[in-house]
Amino acid sequence: MNAFTLDRRAIMLSAVAGASSMLIPSLSGSGNANAQTASLLSGNAGRYRIRVGEISATVLSDGLIGGPPRVYASDAPEAELEEVLRRAFLPTDHMTLNLNTLLIETGGRRILIEAGAGKTMGPNGGRIFENLAAIGLGPADIDAIVISHTHPDHVGNLRTEDGSKAFPRATVFVPKADWDFFVRTDPDLSYMPVPEEFRVRFAAAIKNSLEPVMNDVEFYEAGAEIVPGLTTLVASGHTPGMATFLVHSGSDQLLLTADLAYHPVVNVDNPWLPGPDRDKETALASRRRIFDRAATDRIPVLGFHFPFPGLGRMLKTDGGYIWVPANWQF
Ligand SMILES: [Zn+2]
Repeated sequence: MNAFTLDRRAIMLSAVAGASSMLIPSLSGSGNANAQTASLLSGNAGRYRIRVGEISATVLSDGLIGGPPRVYASDAPEAELEEVLRRAFLPTDHMTLNLNTLLIETGGRRILIEAGAGKTMGPNGGRIFENLAAIGLGPADIDAIVISHTHPDHVGNLRTEDGSKAFPRATVFVPKADWDFFVRTDPDLSYMPVPEEFRVRFAAAIKNSLEPVMNDVEFYEAGAEIVPGLTTLVASGHTPGMATFLVHSGSDQLLLTADLAYHPVVNVDNPWLPGPDRDKETALASRRRIFDRAATDRIPVLGFHFPFPGLGRMLKTDGGYIWVPANWQF
């Protein structure tokens, strides 16, 4: 059976439409935050059930972030980038990115893969709690949270407004090399193609978000198995410790690509390099190795930042790859 086996609960549309209108300045300088907020208020589903063999899984949206397309396609020639965006019917001045966290339920444990951004990168994140509630769960029902890398959009929801743990019972798994780079020291983020003021807030948001779990975080090295059915894969380059994930059960697999690519139009269908990649050569090698595996083995893929629910497959072409979104399953 394939990994997108039907689960009828996925068709239940969200009745929750209470989006926050808090005016928190966007780190990414979003130019059309109003349009994004309006789309979030429309009440479409922010959760999507799938199965991977015996493992039941739900993509839970934490909402949206975004920024100038140039940030996510650092080496694209300007005219070509604009043309590609136009042909994809996307705005040329702003790129919207999704936050597709994945909840898996296996071995009697609920494990969340990525915590999401919360409000650390603009006003349109932090919706994971509503989407958890929509499937009858609260933050205290989460047993573990596995983070691919410690950028704010992956750890932002770990901290409540009053500074306590947002997921009170969850063991948080963090790649050791990212902790060493972003938390133990003051990282040099001059490689990021954003204003200095953004870098300062970005670095502070990482430490701030992780502070409540500081004393009981579990470190892992990419390559480790977190629990049976959830393996981490080495994918460094974007950050020193970034991992991607393979969820597997029997012959079914789901490959999570974390931030190997931000948007399929610029980082899969076109081979442009994400500006926030710290070591662009190593990140490119990781991207090719993992995309090749996905394409060769025809593995269903979940892209953390891809258009919701972020599921599809990679197709290998002569010169690169093509993203083929999965059909919505009812
Ligand atoms: Zn990210």
